[in-house]
Amino acid sequence: MRSYFISDLHLDETRPAVTRAFLHYLEQWAGHCDALYILGDFFEVWVGDDDDAPLAQTIISALKRFSTSSSALYIMHGNRDFLLGDSFCQQTGATLLPDPILIDLYGQPTLLMHGDSLCTRDSEYMAFRQQARSADWQQQLLSQPLAARRALAAQLREQSQSMNALKADDIMDVTPAEVEQIMRQHQSLRLIHGHTHRPQRHPMDIDGQTAERIVLGDWCDKAWILEAQPQGLSLQSFAL
Ligand code: MN
Repeated sequence: MRSYFISDLHLDETRPAVTRAFLHYLEQWAGHCDALYILGDFFEVWVGDDDDAPLAQTIISALKRFSTSSSALYIMHGNRDFLLGDSFCQQTGATLLPDPILIDLYGQPTLLMHGDSLCTRDSEYMAFRQQARSADWQQQLLSQPLAARRALAAQLREQSQSMNALKADDIMDVTPAEVEQIMRQHQSLRLIHGHTHRPQRHPMDIDGQTAERIVLGDWCDKAWILEAQPQGLSLQSFAL
């Protein structure tokens, strides 16, 4: 009995080593784990389920092979791939998870999130997030031709990179009070999320109870994998 959690692979045609590593792990895990949870920013950008780029097609086929083994596949939106939709899920056999979601992980209630909604001190981003998650805005975006969406994605990415370069380090990280609030609200003593690219296991104390926040890592120089078994968790990294 084991499950895997990953996030922030930022799959992109310019970084083939990450794609190769992911395909390698996926093949190893297929049929040999209960489930794989992908907690957002799986793709660097997702312009719509009608994307016919080779990378999208390669990944869809590989996920399909995985989900037709005896392993379950779950995916959550990140702030870059929030347009992943029903068609992607049908093609891959993935189940789209809401953010946040409380699961039963081998008997322990565990809250799963992408993590961007925890970074409340970044008010500029929070405003964009609200817009980007609205059905109307998404529908309007998806009604544009693929080429126009690709151009817009490239533009947004440049803007985001230049904005982030100017932001103080601490506003890019989670707001501790927000973390505690959401864990209390869902009565969970364990939270797993990604987004911040600060892989770490953080022991916590919530109202006198031992709790933990586990941050998944981004796949830049290393593959970060959280392995969950009934006896506990293990956050591992491997050279790409
Ligand atoms: Mn993110």
